Amino acid sequence: MTKPLIHGLSRLELDEACKALGLPSYRAGQIWTWLYGQRVSDWAEMKNLPATLREVLACKFDIVSVLNQKLEGPPKGTRKILVGLRDGECVEEVLIPAGDRRTVCVSSQVGCRFACVFCASGKGGYVRNLDAGEMVGQVLLAWKEYGDRPSNIVFMGMGEPFDNTDAVLKAIRILNDPDGINIGARHMTVSTSGVIPGIERLAGEGIQVELSVSLHAPDDALRSRLMPVNRKYPLTELLAACRRYVAATKRIITFEYTLIRGVNDSRPQALALAKLLRPVSGRVNLIPLSPVEGFEGQAPTAGTAEMFIEVLGKTGINATTRLSKGTTIDAACGQLRMRAGGGDSRKTLE
Ligand code: SF4
Repeated sequence: MTKPLIHGLSRLELDEACKALGLPSYRAGQIWTWLYGQRVSDWAEMKNLPATLREVLACKFDIVSVLNQKLEGPPKGTRKILVGLRDGECVEEVLIPAGDRRTVCVSSQVGCRFACVFCASGKGGYVRNLDAGEMVGQVLLAWKEYGDRPSNIVFMGMGEPFDNTDAVLKAIRILNDPDGINIGARHMTVSTSGVIPGIERLAGEGIQVELSVSLHAPDDALRSRLMPVNRKYPLTELLAACRRYVAATKRIITFEYTLIRGVNDSRPQALALAKLLRPVSGRVNLIPLSPVEGFEGQAPTAGTAEMFIEVLGKTGINATTRLSKGTTIDAACGQLRMRAGGGDSRKTLE
């Protein structure tokens, strides 16, 4: 990868790049409009720029950041895209339409080093971080597939967003630009496996995005077994960071809890979860496990989610069930890429 991606520049950086080329200031506005108003994918389409300038820009920046390699799922239902990158790597994104919502689940890394046992991305290992432009590119690709501007973005695809914090925050700012794609910060969610420095950083950034923290277990022994990140950031420290985040931002955190039969879905575990979360202002998303190749865990029996909802509700914690909408199209993160042959280089969190 030699040239930077034009979609990885913030509006301010584009202004500076144009200034460095000796261009009048209105040129940056024209380019920005072509990129996000017209969403062109070829410099030649920028008709109000002189041909010589288009050539200069093409020499300096790449305009095609991602390619749609494979699309699975029904036209109006949840669809999954295998997204090709410039270096031949690929990631996945998922389109989740629901009523007026056109949600896009975006990947932040090729693979993931965090090795959660129930996750296909974790099994494939880590390859590299995505550039902000590659995340913005996924949203533009989703716009094309939806035929309309996506309404909600969740950084919940392949990778741990707080293992690539700078690029994720930059992508959020580009997506949030009112003269660009203009997705409201509150319509974007960053989902972490519990990386405390990332939570602390987000608390100080002053952007009103939603934060989602994956718990999946109510005690350290089990959580460390399911999510190795817990050995570095155990529950007590993680929840203390969450409380600080809530105090600093006045925002509510969503805690994700995947229900795995006979592993983390008993009544005592529901009670332990309620006790753990009582001091934090948060809500809980219960997700019945989707089958994952290489993980023997099973989906919970009927009624388990309702039991958790009841137990948590008695403590005043709002809980809902979110079905893993992509089950039928292998949308549990990383599975499409694994089937496509990705995920060989296994680097994981120490
Ligand atoms: S669940 Fe998230 S953090 Fe864990 S391995 Fe998968 S992508 Fe990485």
